Amino acid sequence: MTTPTWVEGAAGSLHDVDNLPYAVTADPSRVVVRIGDQALDLGAAARDLRPEWAPLLDTGSLNPLMAAGPDTWDAVRSWVVDLLTDEAHRDAVTLLPLDGLELRLPFDVADYVDYYASEHHASNVGRIFRPDQEPLLPNWKHLPVGYHGRSGSVVVSGTDVQRPAGQRKAPDAATPTFGPSVRLDIEAELGFVVGRTLPLGTPVATSDFATTVFGVTGLNDWSARDLQAWEYVPLGPNLGKSFATTVSAWVTPLAALEPALVDLPGQDAVPVLPYLREAGPSGYDIEVEVELNGVVVARPPYRTMYWSPAQMLAHMTVNGASLRVGDLYGSGTISGPEPEQRGSFLELSWGGTAPFTVGDETRTFLEDGDEVVLRYSAPGAAGGRIGLGEVRGRIVPSPATDGA
Ligand code: CA
Repeated sequence: MTTPTWVEGAAGSLHDVDNLPYAVTADPSRVVVRIGDQALDLGAAARDLRPEWAPLLDTGSLNPLMAAGPDTWDAVRSWVVDLLTDEAHRDAVTLLPLDGLELRLPFDVADYVDYYASEHHASNVGRIFRPDQEPLLPNWKHLPVGYHGRSGSVVVSGTDVQRPAGQRKAPDAATPTFGPSVRLDIEAELGFVVGRTLPLGTPVATSDFATTVFGVTGLNDWSARDLQAWEYVPLGPNLGKSFATTVSAWVTPLAALEPALVDLPGQDAVPVLPYLREAGPSGYDIEVEVELNGVVVARPPYRTMYWSPAQMLAHMTVNGASLRVGDLYGSGTISGPEPEQRGSFLELSWGGTAPFTVGDETRTFLEDGDEVVLRYSAPGAAGGRIGLGEVRGRIVPSPATDGA
Protein backbone atom coordinates (compact mmCIF):
# COMPACT_ATOMS: atom_id res chain seq x y z
CA MET A 1 0.00 0.00 0.00
CA THR A 2 1.15 3.51 -0.74
CA THR A 3 1.48 6.42 1.68
CA PRO A 4 -1.88 7.41 3.23
CA THR A 5 -3.81 10.20 1.57
CA TRP A 6 -3.84 13.65 3.14
CA VAL A 7 -7.52 14.09 2.18
CA GLU A 8 -9.61 14.08 5.36
CA GLY A 9 -12.07 11.20 5.66
CA ALA A 10 -10.79 9.29 2.63
CA ALA A 11 -8.34 6.84 4.22
CA GLY A 12 -10.00 3.47 4.78
CA SER A 13 -13.19 4.52 2.98
CA LEU A 14 -14.59 2.97 -0.19
CA HIS A 15 -12.86 5.81 -2.06
CA ASP A 16 -9.29 5.70 -0.81
CA VAL A 17 -6.24 6.05 -3.09
CA ASP A 18 -6.52 2.42 -4.21
CA ASN A 19 -9.76 3.30 -6.06
CA LEU A 20 -9.63 6.69 -7.86
CA PRO A 21 -12.47 6.43 -10.39
CA TYR A 22 -12.85 9.05 -13.12
CA ALA A 23 -15.86 11.18 -14.03
CA VAL A 24 -16.57 14.27 -16.13
CA THR A 25 -18.29 17.35 -14.75
CA ALA A 26 -21.03 19.08 -16.71
CA ASP A 27 -20.28 22.80 -16.57
CA PRO A 28 -17.50 23.57 -16.99
CA SER A 29 -16.54 20.18 -18.37
CA ARG A 30 -13.34 18.59 -17.13
CA VAL A 31 -12.14 15.25 -15.83
CA VAL A 32 -12.33 14.70 -12.06
CA VAL A 33 -11.18 11.87 -9.80
CA ARG A 34 -13.05 10.83 -6.70
CA ILE A 35 -11.24 10.72 -3.35
CA GLY A 36 -13.39 10.24 -0.24
CA ASP A 37 -16.45 12.45 -0.60
CA GLN A 38 -14.68 14.92 -2.86
CA ALA A 39 -13.51 15.16 -6.42
CA LEU A 40 -10.03 16.24 -7.44
CA ASP A 41 -10.24 18.71 -10.34
CA LEU A 42 -7.88 16.90 -12.66
CA GLY A 43 -8.48 19.32 -15.52
CA ALA A 44 -7.24 22.24 -13.43
CA ALA A 45 -4.35 20.21 -12.01
CA ALA A 46 -3.19 19.28 -15.52
CA ARG A 47 -3.44 22.90 -16.67
CA ASP A 48 -1.31 24.08 -13.75
CA LEU A 49 1.11 21.21 -13.22
CA ARG A 50 1.20 18.93 -16.28
CA PRO A 51 0.20 21.02 -19.32
CA GLU A 52 1.12 18.19 -21.71
CA TRP A 53 -1.83 16.26 -20.23
CA ALA A 54 -4.30 19.16 -20.35
CA PRO A 55 -5.74 18.00 -23.72
CA LEU A 56 -6.55 14.65 -22.06
CA LEU A 57 -7.94 15.93 -18.77
CA ASP A 58 -9.12 19.52 -19.16
CA THR A 59 -11.88 18.38 -21.48
CA GLY A 60 -15.47 17.11 -21.55
CA SER A 61 -14.94 13.40 -22.12
CA LEU A 62 -12.71 10.53 -21.03
CA ASN A 63 -12.17 9.58 -24.68
CA PRO A 64 -8.88 11.53 -25.14
CA LEU A 65 -7.40 9.99 -21.98
CA MET A 66 -8.55 6.52 -23.04
CA ALA A 67 -7.15 7.01 -26.55
CA ALA A 68 -3.75 7.93 -25.12
CA GLY A 69 -3.18 4.26 -24.28
CA PRO A 70 -2.36 2.06 -21.31
CA ASP A 71 1.06 3.58 -20.52
CA THR A 72 -0.60 6.98 -20.13
CA TRP A 73 -3.45 5.44 -18.07
CA ASP A 74 -0.80 4.13 -15.66
CA ALA A 75 1.19 7.37 -15.64
CA VAL A 76 -1.86 9.56 -14.93
CA ARG A 77 -3.01 7.21 -12.16
CA SER A 78 0.45 7.28 -10.52
CA TRP A 79 0.48 11.07 -10.74
CA VAL A 80 -2.96 11.30 -9.09
CA VAL A 81 -1.79 9.01 -6.26
CA ASP A 82 1.22 11.29 -5.79
CA LEU A 83 -0.98 14.42 -5.74
CA LEU A 84 -3.25 12.90 -3.11
CA THR A 85 -0.59 11.36 -0.85
CA ASP A 86 2.21 13.96 -0.84
CA GLU A 87 1.30 16.86 1.48
CA ALA A 88 3.38 19.14 -0.73
CA HIS A 89 0.57 19.16 -3.32
CA ARG A 90 -2.21 20.05 -0.88
CA ASP A 91 -2.30 23.73 -1.82
CA ALA A 92 -1.69 23.17 -5.50
CA VAL A 93 -4.84 21.17 -6.27
CA THR A 94 -8.57 21.81 -5.99
CA LEU A 95 -10.98 19.44 -4.27
CA LEU A 96 -14.65 19.87 -5.08
CA PRO A 97 -17.40 18.56 -2.78
CA LEU A 98 -19.37 15.80 -4.50
CA ASP A 99 -22.62 17.26 -3.24
CA GLY A 100 -24.00 19.42 -5.98
CA LEU A 101 -21.38 18.42 -8.55
CA GLU A 102 -23.20 17.77 -11.82
CA LEU A 103 -21.69 14.88 -13.76
CA ARG A 104 -22.28 14.09 -17.42
CA LEU A 105 -22.00 10.92 -19.47
CA PRO A 106 -18.27 10.31 -18.92
CA PHE A 107 -17.36 9.07 -22.40
CA ASP A 108 -18.69 9.24 -25.94
CA VAL A 109 -20.26 5.84 -26.41
CA ALA A 110 -19.21 4.28 -29.70
CA ASP A 111 -20.73 0.83 -30.22
CA TYR A 112 -22.70 -0.93 -27.52
CA VAL A 113 -22.95 -4.71 -27.17
CA ASP A 114 -24.74 -6.49 -24.36
CA TYR A 115 -23.84 -10.03 -23.31
CA TYR A 116 -25.66 -12.72 -21.35
CA ALA A 117 -22.80 -14.12 -19.27
CA SER A 118 -24.51 -15.41 -16.11
CA GLU A 119 -25.45 -19.08 -16.23
CA HIS A 120 -27.90 -18.57 -13.38
CA HIS A 121 -29.63 -15.69 -15.19
CA ALA A 122 -29.72 -17.47 -18.55
CA SER A 123 -31.07 -20.64 -16.90
CA ASN A 124 -33.74 -18.74 -14.97
CA VAL A 125 -34.87 -16.89 -18.11
CA GLY A 126 -34.92 -20.18 -20.03
CA ARG A 127 -37.11 -21.79 -17.37
CA ILE A 128 -39.47 -18.80 -17.31
CA PHE A 129 -39.80 -18.30 -21.10
CA ARG A 130 -39.40 -21.93 -22.31
CA PRO A 131 -40.53 -24.14 -19.40
CA ASP A 132 -40.83 -27.24 -21.58
CA GLN A 133 -37.24 -27.10 -22.92
CA GLU A 134 -33.67 -27.30 -21.64
CA PRO A 135 -33.02 -23.96 -19.88
CA LEU A 136 -29.75 -23.28 -21.74
CA LEU A 137 -29.71 -23.33 -25.54
CA PRO A 138 -27.01 -25.50 -27.22
CA ASN A 139 -24.63 -22.60 -28.01
CA TRP A 140 -24.60 -21.08 -24.52
CA LYS A 141 -21.49 -22.76 -23.05
CA HIS A 142 -19.53 -22.49 -26.31
CA LEU A 143 -19.69 -18.74 -26.83
CA PRO A 144 -20.72 -15.67 -24.86
CA VAL A 145 -24.15 -14.88 -26.33
CA GLY A 146 -24.80 -11.20 -26.99
CA TYR A 147 -26.62 -8.70 -29.18
CA HIS A 148 -25.80 -5.28 -30.57
CA GLY A 149 -27.57 -2.53 -28.59
CA ARG A 150 -28.31 1.14 -29.16
CA SER A 151 -25.41 3.36 -28.07
CA GLY A 152 -27.35 6.59 -28.62
CA SER A 153 -29.71 5.85 -25.73
CA VAL A 154 -26.99 5.16 -23.14
CA VAL A 155 -27.55 7.75 -20.40
CA VAL A 156 -25.72 8.75 -17.24
CA SER A 157 -26.82 7.78 -13.73
CA GLY A 158 -29.52 10.10 -12.40
CA THR A 159 -31.31 10.48 -15.74
CA ASP A 160 -35.06 9.78 -15.53
CA VAL A 161 -36.26 6.85 -17.60
CA GLN A 162 -39.52 7.29 -19.47
CA ARG A 163 -41.66 4.18 -19.51
CA PRO A 164 -41.47 2.90 -23.09
CA ALA A 165 -44.48 2.11 -25.22
CA GLY A 166 -44.75 -0.46 -27.94
CA GLN A 167 -46.35 -3.64 -29.22
CA ARG A 168 -47.02 -6.53 -26.90
CA LYS A 169 -49.11 -9.65 -27.29
CA ALA A 170 -50.50 -11.73 -24.45
CA PRO A 171 -49.99 -15.50 -25.05
CA ASP A 172 -53.74 -16.08 -25.37
CA ALA A 173 -54.43 -13.00 -27.55
CA ALA A 174 -54.90 -13.31 -31.30
CA THR A 175 -53.24 -10.02 -32.22
CA PRO A 176 -50.85 -7.53 -30.60
CA THR A 177 -51.90 -4.33 -28.87
CA PHE A 178 -50.00 -1.07 -28.39
CA GLY A 179 -49.40 0.83 -25.17
CA PRO A 180 -47.02 1.70 -22.33
CA SER A 181 -45.07 -1.34 -21.16
CA VAL A 182 -46.71 -3.12 -18.22
CA ARG A 183 -43.67 -5.32 -17.53
CA LEU A 184 -40.86 -2.80 -17.15
CA ASP A 185 -37.75 -4.29 -15.58
CA ILE A 186 -34.13 -3.73 -14.65
CA GLU A 187 -31.01 -5.75 -15.40
CA ALA A 188 -28.15 -5.25 -12.92
CA GLU A 189 -24.94 -5.46 -14.93
CA LEU A 190 -21.40 -4.20 -15.26
CA GLY A 191 -20.23 -2.21 -18.29
CA PHE A 192 -16.73 -2.48 -19.79
CA VAL A 193 -15.34 0.57 -21.60
CA VAL A 194 -12.88 0.03 -24.46
CA GLY A 195 -9.96 2.48 -24.56
CA ARG A 196 -8.43 1.45 -27.85
CA THR A 197 -9.15 1.82 -31.55
CA LEU A 198 -8.29 -1.15 -33.74
CA PRO A 199 -8.94 -1.54 -37.47
CA LEU A 200 -11.06 -4.21 -39.07
CA GLY A 201 -9.44 -7.62 -39.03
CA THR A 202 -7.61 -7.29 -35.69
CA PRO A 203 -8.90 -9.90 -33.22
CA VAL A 204 -8.02 -9.15 -29.59
CA ALA A 205 -6.59 -12.01 -27.51
CA THR A 206 -8.01 -12.62 -24.04
CA SER A 207 -4.52 -11.76 -22.71
CA ASP A 208 -4.83 -8.22 -24.17
CA PHE A 209 -7.92 -7.40 -22.10
CA ALA A 210 -6.12 -5.12 -19.57
CA THR A 211 -4.41 -3.07 -22.29
CA THR A 212 -7.63 -2.73 -24.31
CA VAL A 213 -10.33 -2.09 -21.72
CA PHE A 214 -9.89 1.16 -19.79
CA GLY A 215 -12.36 0.66 -17.00
CA VAL A 216 -15.66 -0.51 -15.59
CA THR A 217 -19.02 1.18 -15.03
CA GLY A 218 -22.18 0.09 -13.29
CA LEU A 219 -24.91 -0.57 -15.86
CA ASN A 220 -28.68 -0.96 -15.77
CA ASP A 221 -30.10 -2.50 -18.94
CA TRP A 222 -33.72 -1.37 -18.54
CA SER A 223 -35.95 -3.95 -20.24
CA ALA A 224 -39.60 -3.94 -21.27
CA ARG A 225 -40.40 -7.65 -20.95
CA ASP A 226 -43.76 -7.49 -22.73
CA LEU A 227 -42.26 -5.72 -25.76
CA GLN A 228 -39.24 -8.02 -25.66
CA ALA A 229 -41.21 -11.27 -25.48
CA TRP A 230 -43.22 -10.41 -28.61
CA GLU A 231 -40.45 -8.93 -30.76
CA TYR A 232 -37.34 -11.01 -29.96
CA VAL A 233 -37.98 -14.04 -32.20
CA PRO A 234 -35.85 -14.77 -34.21
CA LEU A 235 -33.33 -11.89 -34.15
CA GLY A 236 -33.13 -10.90 -30.49
CA PRO A 237 -33.84 -7.80 -28.43
CA ASN A 238 -34.67 -4.52 -30.13
CA LEU A 239 -37.19 -1.94 -28.82
CA GLY A 240 -37.64 -3.80 -25.54
CA LYS A 241 -34.11 -2.67 -24.66
CA SER A 242 -33.18 0.31 -26.85
CA PHE A 243 -35.19 3.02 -25.02
CA ALA A 244 -32.55 3.53 -22.26
CA THR A 245 -29.41 2.00 -20.77
CA THR A 246 -28.00 3.75 -17.70
CA VAL A 247 -24.29 3.74 -16.82
CA SER A 248 -22.61 5.15 -13.73
CA ALA A 249 -21.03 8.59 -13.92
CA TRP A 250 -17.83 7.10 -12.48
CA VAL A 251 -15.54 4.83 -14.45
CA THR A 252 -13.33 2.62 -12.27
CA PRO A 253 -9.96 1.98 -13.90
CA LEU A 254 -9.18 -1.69 -14.40
CA ALA A 255 -6.03 -1.25 -12.29
CA ALA A 256 -8.19 -0.60 -9.20
CA LEU A 257 -9.91 -3.96 -9.69
CA GLU A 258 -6.77 -6.11 -9.79
CA PRO A 259 -7.22 -7.18 -6.11
CA ALA A 260 -10.74 -8.34 -7.04
CA LEU A 261 -9.61 -10.82 -9.72
CA VAL A 262 -10.85 -14.37 -9.05
CA ASP A 263 -11.11 -17.61 -10.99
CA LEU A 264 -14.27 -18.14 -13.00
CA PRO A 265 -16.66 -20.70 -11.49
CA GLY A 266 -15.49 -23.23 -14.09
CA GLN A 267 -15.61 -24.09 -17.80
CA ASP A 268 -14.19 -27.62 -17.41
CA ALA A 269 -17.31 -29.53 -18.36
CA VAL A 270 -17.52 -27.89 -21.78
CA PRO A 271 -14.05 -26.91 -23.06
CA VAL A 272 -13.95 -23.62 -24.94
CA LEU A 273 -12.28 -23.03 -28.31
CA PRO A 274 -8.66 -21.76 -28.21
CA TYR A 275 -9.51 -18.09 -28.80
CA LEU A 276 -11.58 -18.08 -25.59
CA ARG A 277 -8.95 -19.75 -23.37
CA GLU A 278 -7.32 -17.81 -20.55
CA ALA A 279 -4.17 -18.19 -18.50
CA GLY A 280 -5.08 -16.77 -15.08
CA PRO A 281 -7.97 -15.51 -12.98
CA SER A 282 -10.36 -13.46 -15.09
CA GLY A 283 -13.52 -13.14 -13.00
CA TYR A 284 -14.12 -10.30 -10.57
CA ASP A 285 -15.29 -10.56 -6.97
CA ILE A 286 -17.69 -7.61 -7.19
CA GLU A 287 -20.73 -7.45 -4.90
CA VAL A 288 -23.85 -5.79 -6.28
CA GLU A 289 -26.83 -4.36 -4.40
CA VAL A 290 -30.15 -3.70 -6.11
CA GLU A 291 -32.12 -1.07 -4.23
CA LEU A 292 -35.74 -0.20 -5.03
CA ASN A 293 -37.19 2.90 -3.35
CA GLY A 294 -34.57 2.67 -0.60
CA VAL A 295 -34.97 -1.06 0.07
CA VAL A 296 -32.33 -3.62 -0.97
CA VAL A 297 -34.19 -6.30 -2.96
CA ALA A 298 -31.25 -8.38 -4.26
CA ARG A 299 -27.51 -8.89 -3.82
CA PRO A 300 -26.12 -10.45 -7.01
CA PRO A 301 -22.49 -11.67 -6.84
CA TYR A 302 -20.47 -10.93 -10.00
CA ARG A 303 -17.97 -13.69 -9.14
CA THR A 304 -20.55 -16.29 -10.17
CA MET A 305 -20.53 -15.15 -13.84
CA TYR A 306 -19.73 -17.95 -16.30
CA TRP A 307 -17.96 -15.87 -19.00
CA SER A 308 -15.21 -13.35 -18.23
CA PRO A 309 -15.05 -9.83 -19.69
CA ALA A 310 -11.80 -10.83 -21.46
CA GLN A 311 -13.63 -13.66 -23.21
CA MET A 312 -16.44 -11.30 -24.22
CA LEU A 313 -13.87 -8.92 -25.73
CA ALA A 314 -12.10 -11.72 -27.61
CA HIS A 315 -15.42 -12.99 -28.91
CA MET A 316 -16.54 -9.50 -29.99
CA THR A 317 -13.48 -9.11 -32.24
CA VAL A 318 -12.70 -12.68 -33.36
CA ASN A 319 -14.64 -12.21 -36.59
CA GLY A 320 -12.56 -9.16 -37.49
CA ALA A 321 -14.97 -6.52 -36.17
CA SER A 322 -13.14 -3.29 -35.37
CA LEU A 323 -12.95 -1.54 -32.01
CA ARG A 324 -13.29 2.14 -31.23
CA VAL A 325 -12.39 4.14 -28.15
CA GLY A 326 -15.66 4.41 -26.22
CA ASP A 327 -17.05 1.02 -27.24
CA LEU A 328 -19.13 -0.28 -24.36
CA TYR A 329 -20.11 -3.84 -23.62
CA GLY A 330 -22.37 -5.07 -20.85
CA SER A 331 -21.90 -8.27 -18.87
CA GLY A 332 -25.52 -9.31 -18.99
CA THR A 333 -27.69 -9.56 -15.92
CA ILE A 334 -25.75 -10.63 -12.86
CA SER A 335 -27.62 -13.38 -11.00
CA GLY A 336 -26.26 -15.80 -8.43
CA PRO A 337 -27.60 -19.25 -7.52
CA GLU A 338 -29.82 -18.05 -4.65
CA PRO A 339 -33.26 -16.42 -5.06
CA GLU A 340 -32.11 -13.22 -3.27
CA GLN A 341 -29.17 -12.97 -5.71
CA ARG A 342 -31.24 -12.40 -8.84
CA GLY A 343 -30.46 -9.24 -10.79
CA SER A 344 -33.80 -8.69 -12.54
CA PHE A 345 -37.43 -8.37 -11.46
CA LEU A 346 -38.30 -10.99 -14.09
CA GLU A 347 -36.40 -13.50 -11.98
CA LEU A 348 -37.24 -12.03 -8.54
CA SER A 349 -40.98 -12.30 -9.38
CA TRP A 350 -40.51 -15.47 -11.46
CA GLY A 351 -42.03 -14.05 -14.61
CA GLY A 352 -44.51 -11.93 -12.66
CA THR A 353 -46.13 -14.95 -10.98
CA ALA A 354 -44.61 -14.43 -7.52
CA PRO A 355 -44.64 -10.80 -6.30
CA PHE A 356 -41.66 -10.01 -4.04
CA THR A 357 -41.61 -7.86 -0.92
CA VAL A 358 -40.27 -4.30 -0.97
CA GLY A 359 -40.66 -2.88 2.54
CA ASP A 360 -44.43 -2.63 3.09
CA GLU A 361 -45.26 -3.23 -0.58
CA THR A 362 -44.86 -5.93 -3.20
CA ARG A 363 -43.69 -5.68 -6.78
CA THR A 364 -43.60 -7.76 -9.91
CA PHE A 365 -42.38 -5.07 -12.33
CA LEU A 366 -41.60 -1.34 -12.07
CA GLU A 367 -44.27 1.26 -11.35
CA ASP A 368 -44.13 4.94 -12.31
CA GLY A 369 -42.18 6.87 -9.69
CA ASP A 370 -40.06 3.88 -8.67
CA GLU A 371 -36.37 4.64 -8.20
CA VAL A 372 -33.74 1.95 -8.68
CA VAL A 373 -30.16 2.29 -7.45
CA LEU A 374 -27.46 -0.28 -8.25
CA ARG A 375 -24.43 -0.23 -5.94
CA TYR A 376 -21.17 -2.11 -6.39
CA SER A 377 -18.15 -2.84 -4.18
CA ALA A 378 -15.06 -5.02 -4.46
CA PRO A 379 -11.90 -5.92 -2.57
CA GLY A 380 -9.30 -3.15 -2.81
CA ALA A 381 -5.62 -3.07 -2.03
CA ALA A 382 -4.40 -3.83 1.52
CA GLY A 383 -7.53 -5.65 2.64
CA GLY A 384 -9.95 -2.75 2.21
CA ARG A 385 -12.87 -2.38 -0.18
CA ILE A 386 -13.55 0.00 -3.04
CA GLY A 387 -16.88 1.34 -4.27
CA LEU A 388 -17.74 1.43 -7.96
CA GLY A 389 -20.01 4.06 -9.46
CA GLU A 390 -23.67 3.75 -8.53
CA VAL A 391 -26.40 3.62 -11.16
CA ARG A 392 -29.56 5.55 -10.35
CA GLY A 393 -32.76 5.95 -12.35
CA ARG A 394 -36.39 6.86 -11.72
CA ILE A 395 -39.33 5.76 -13.85
CA VAL A 396 -41.51 8.55 -15.26
CA PRO A 397 -44.84 7.88 -16.98
CA SER A 398 -45.17 7.24 -20.69
CA PRO A 399 -46.97 9.98 -22.64
CA ALA A 400 -48.45 7.25 -24.84
CA THR A 401 -51.88 5.72 -24.33
CA ASP A 402 -53.13 2.26 -25.14
CA GLY A 403 -54.27 1.57 -28.66
CA ALA A 404 -52.12 3.81 -30.91
CA1 CA B 1 -28.94 -7.23 -20.55
